[in-house]
Amino acid sequence: MSGTNVSTRPVITVDEVTKRYESTGGEPTHALVDVSFQVEPGEFVTVIGPSGCGKTTLVRLVGGLERPTSGRVSVDGNPVTGPGPDRAMVFQEYHLFPWLTVRENVGFGLVEQGLSESERRNRVASMLELVGLSDRADAYPKALSGGMKQRVGLARALAVDPAILLMDEPFGSVDAQTRRHLQRELLQIRAETGKTILFVTHDIEEAVALSDRILVMRGSPGRVREQLQIDLPRPRDRTDPAFVEYTEHLLELVGPPGRQSTSVRPEL
Ligand code: ADP
Repeated sequence: MSGTNVSTRPVITVDEVTKRYESTGGEPTHALVDVSFQVEPGEFVTVIGPSGCGKTTLVRLVGGLERPTSGRVSVDGNPVTGPGPDRAMVFQEYHLFPWLTVRENVGFGLVEQGLSESERRNRVASMLELVGLSDRADAYPKALSGGMKQRVGLARALAVDPAILLMDEPFGSVDAQTRRHLQRELLQIRAETGKTILFVTHDIEEAVALSDRILVMRGSPGRVREQLQIDLPRPRDRTDPAFVEYTEHLLELVGPPGRQSTSVRPEL
């Protein structure tokens, strides 16, 4: 992790990755070109950049839901060939099973892990406690607020005890107040569990509040533009001039929301 002298092996390595989506009858989309970065164990790294710059693609590649067109993605030194229990994903749209209760949703991934029923029950109970939802264990998703649904998604991801959490705009569907709440909870959970986190957001303030390091991307095609270490003490104070300076710098790099790169020809 940053600031330590201990030499650590990166837990995530993305090495010269290019991702091209072919389309039938049309031009292929160059979602990512020559993207390289590493994430250290326990590090919180956030990817920001304009819409369409390949943030989701990047997270899906690390999650094993996509394969690179060229280049290598590895986790703990092993090439990623598909999803695995060492990586759990949390999405903006929750992806909860509406026909299962909160408890059943959180325990869903545990069935494959060979735990006994009582171990599963205990694990689910402690995850629900961690996200503050013990009293909603028997509710169905439709009875929950957006913030609660996202807590269920987080509890489900944490239940399999992955080394890495992959979070794609996880707080994008909740109101500003709930978002702050969830951010605080995530940092607390991260402090308690030491998970490595790769996070995507379009909210620059959220990125500065949460991250050890920020990857700033630019689009058409997606590339890493800059990597920025956030050297601010925790808990972070959003009114601290140094915090504001980071957000201003990043705003300048990324540009106003919706602004796309003007490059029309992929620089290949
Ligand atoms: P971001 O998350 O930064 O908005 P994405 O990774 O979703 O970016 O998309 C990057 C580019 O790849 C966009 O141009 C998008 O339209 C395209 N893209 C993403 N997924 C697919 C897909 N499954 N098939 C074709 N094009 C895709």
